[in-house]
Amino acid sequence: MSEKKLPFSQEKLKEIIALYPTPFHLYDEKGMREYARRFNEAFSWNIGFKEYYAIKAAPNPYLMKILRKEGFGIDCSSMAELELAERLGMRGDEIMFTSNDTPAYEFLKARELNAIINLDDISHIAYLEKHAGLPETLCFRYNPGNLKEGNLIIGHPEEAKYGLTRSQMMDAYRIAREKGVTRFGIHTMVASNELDPDYFLETAEILFRLILEIRNELGVTIEFANLGGGIGIPYRPEQQAVDLEYMSRGIRRLYEDIIVANGLEPLRLNFESGRAVTGPYGFLVTQVLHIKNTYKNFAGMDACMVNLMRPALYGAYHHITVVGKEDLPADRLYDVTGSLCENNDKFAIDRLLPEVSPGDLLVIHDAGAHGHAMGFNYNGKLRSAELLLRENGEVMEIRRAESLSDYFATLDFEALPEFQV
Ligand SMILES: *Cc1c(COP(=O)(O)O)cnc(C)c1O
Repeated sequence: MSEKKLPFSQEKLKEIIALYPTPFHLYDEKGMREYARRFNEAFSWNIGFKEYYAIKAAPNPYLMKILRKEGFGIDCSSMAELELAERLGMRGDEIMFTSNDTPAYEFLKARELNAIINLDDISHIAYLEKHAGLPETLCFRYNPGNLKEGNLIIGHPEEAKYGLTRSQMMDAYRIAREKGVTRFGIHTMVASNELDPDYFLETAEILFRLILEIRNELGVTIEFANLGGGIGIPYRPEQQAVDLEYMSRGIRRLYEDIIVANGLEPLRLNFESGRAVTGPYGFLVTQVLHIKNTYKNFAGMDACMVNLMRPALYGAYHHITVVGKEDLPADRLYDVTGSLCENNDKFAIDRLLPEVSPGDLLVIHDAGAHGHAMGFNYNGKLRSAELLLRENGEVMEIRRAESLSDYFATLDFEALPEFQV
């Protein structure tokens, strides 16, 4: 079970709304920091352990700054994400660049920042060399193929576009070494939103065994193993969060049995987790605009799918709290909708809630990852603001809401009279 509680009171929320109109995303600094500390603590046995926060989950510099203070690096996969890192003054070992189908200019930027480059394909060695030069350190992304069971979101590894096969991994390290690369890492990520901690143990075991084989076959020492992201979160109240301490103990056991017992050099462990780090600590706050009763009951919100598209995109469950009505019986069936001209613009379908009325505040839980970040402008909808609830209870705006002038910024209305039909 995971309790779906709010880190703020109804009174606090009313204060916030007096200053910032709904909808908005509100992030809980305290919850994020506590999770980050727990993550680091769980893996404190591993010297050099580092989690690289997958910035795509919630690419806000304020959140990154908080996580950086807790010792996290940044995991980037695009130009904008690299630039965000650069603007925060991050470089070198603080940046993991795990991209795929990568354009030359992104490799150039990653090299300029001296980021750790994690290559997604064997052909990228030559591509990187040609366009940006090879770094001292390289990492390769392993796709274990049918060694590993599928996961619902990423699917069967053989079908996934990511990573190198086992034999390509061997060739990649050999070729990179011949070309003068001297330091190596290894990466894999085959899960997304995985709640079974044993899944990560299995992944670690596959990676540790491969490290041993690489050492035996090629004499190449792997200095760090990046276990990727994919740590799931309990979107549903009846689900259980991944037990980090259990996972860490299991990985430690495998580390002792495979890395230490075979006399391999110490290995730094990394994750590039995104969802689990900010997901549960972000809340989408929205107000009921209209109640509509036709063949079904619809609660029409002032937020829509552009604020959080996971329910529409994946049919994902997001828990909803009606603020101030937590203790009333949830005995009314609603579709909770947005205003897009898309019938799948619904935050929930057939959800039992207490009876709601226009003006009621709804909080949509677990919106701190792939929430605001996935926002888009379809139907001329504007992306909402992001707010941070500080540990001392203060609230600060960490991204303003878009305005209509942002929406029209890429158009030139001045040139319109010239346009002859
Ligand atoms: C999305 C992604 C992550 C983060 O995944 P989460 O599920 O948010 O933990 C990490 N690494 C890569 C390469 C990714 O694509």
